[in-house]
Amino acid sequence: MGLNEDWRRRSLAAVWHPCTQMKLHDPDGAALPLIPAASAQGVWLHDFEGRRYLDGISSWWVNLFGHNHPAIRAALADQLSRLDHVMLAGFTHAPVVELSERLAALTGLGHAFYGSDGASAVEIALKMSAHHWRNAGRPRKCRFVGLAGGYHGETVGALAVTDIPLFREAYAPLLRLAATVPSPDERQAGPGEDAAAVAERAAVALATWLEQHHEDTAALIVEPLVQCAAGMAMHHPLYLQRARELCDRYQVHLVADEIAVGFGRTGTMFAHNQAGIRPDFICLSKGLTGGTLPLSAVLTTDAVYAAFYDDEVARGFLHSHSYTGNALACRAALATLDLFEQTDALRANELTGARLAAQFEALSQHIRVRHARRRGMIFAWDIDTTLPDFGRRYARHALAQGLLLRPIGRTLYAMPPYVISEAEGEHLARGALAALEATLADEPDFPNAEEAIADGV
Ligand SMILES: *Cc1c(COP(=O)(O)O)cnc(C)c1O
Repeated sequence: MGLNEDWRRRSLAAVWHPCTQMKLHDPDGAALPLIPAASAQGVWLHDFEGRRYLDGISSWWVNLFGHNHPAIRAALADQLSRLDHVMLAGFTHAPVVELSERLAALTGLGHAFYGSDGASAVEIALKMSAHHWRNAGRPRKCRFVGLAGGYHGETVGALAVTDIPLFREAYAPLLRLAATVPSPDERQAGPGEDAAAVAERAAVALATWLEQHHEDTAALIVEPLVQCAAGMAMHHPLYLQRARELCDRYQVHLVADEIAVGFGRTGTMFAHNQAGIRPDFICLSKGLTGGTLPLSAVLTTDAVYAAFYDDEVARGFLHSHSYTGNALACRAALATLDLFEQTDALRANELTGARLAAQFEALSQHIRVRHARRRGMIFAWDIDTTLPDFGRRYARHALAQGLLLRPIGRTLYAMPPYVISEAEGEHLARGALAALEATLADEPDFPNAEEAIADGV
């Protein structure tokens, strides 16, 4: 048995993998091969037998400057020799103070509160928002509203504001579901409409909803500019401006979930920057540590903070988490922020993004592609296919091309690390196109293939 096969079998016996119907890996990785990673460098993931895969989705959108970056590695080694971790209640430390100062300078919000994952950051923001209204004498304001197709994580609280039926259905009885309002997804443009018109239309629906429900609503939560998990649904920044105006008018907090789109992904440091607005809460995670260690942060306004500052203990924000503000994770985040400055990453990404868009041109022009689109370093294409398991098939063909790409439904997307070189971009673009051709070749070639497949399932 090869080394890959050995790790694969041991993993399937011992590990419950995320977001996976484990049976699809059974018995021999036939439907969906499990790839054991031995090491990683830059944009590349290496298995145990010398094969390598270009990480076209930044390992679930977390990696920014490539794997195993020497600067982040050095910072972590240094930090490990000083202070690994100390509880953040009653203690503080240099990395958490410096990181909080720098995040405040970058966002215009402060009072950084830390968790270890995106879902926790979302729950922290929701709890803070509702508790703020309670402290302000308005306890009825404790419901939330989000966008259709929104994704904010999958713990029970975060799932309640997530509108992805596949992830939510089985747990619906456990959830205190949030309301959803229409998404400003620009693909919904009707004849004669542009993205701004769709945004206006969605904003009108939000206005109507808030008018009726603001007395009970603590916060609106949005993924600014790109609803990634919905299949890279993109919208015009005008929607965020309208949402800000409406939240001000109806005294509802605006929570910007920048977990996926923050840290330069959409072209600006934070996606909401493109709307020129300031949210009441910002949730950060994923790219925060450059993809090395789990860490999330919630930033908020002085006004929210002030509502908790009191002689009474119970009016404080008593949320606790053992690893809050972990020194190693904070240090990795500081090294990541340094890289933004040292490499002038946002400017560099303008060039890299344009270069990749040109490299993807043949894919974007493909006859079966609909809605080829891009925001900064996020590229997406909807595929007109009858294959019900398009994503899984595509992922397998992509691996054969030396690529990690996992479509969401019938939306193919790429979100590579920022450091991708021209030659690596070529490998990505060529392989993505070749994998598409190979996947489409799997389509049964009779007209009502979809029905036939549905019957067969
Ligand atoms: C990934 C993601 C989350 C959840 O983050 P986890 O670290 O996976 O819990 C929340 N919101 C958005 C927009 C995300 O993309």
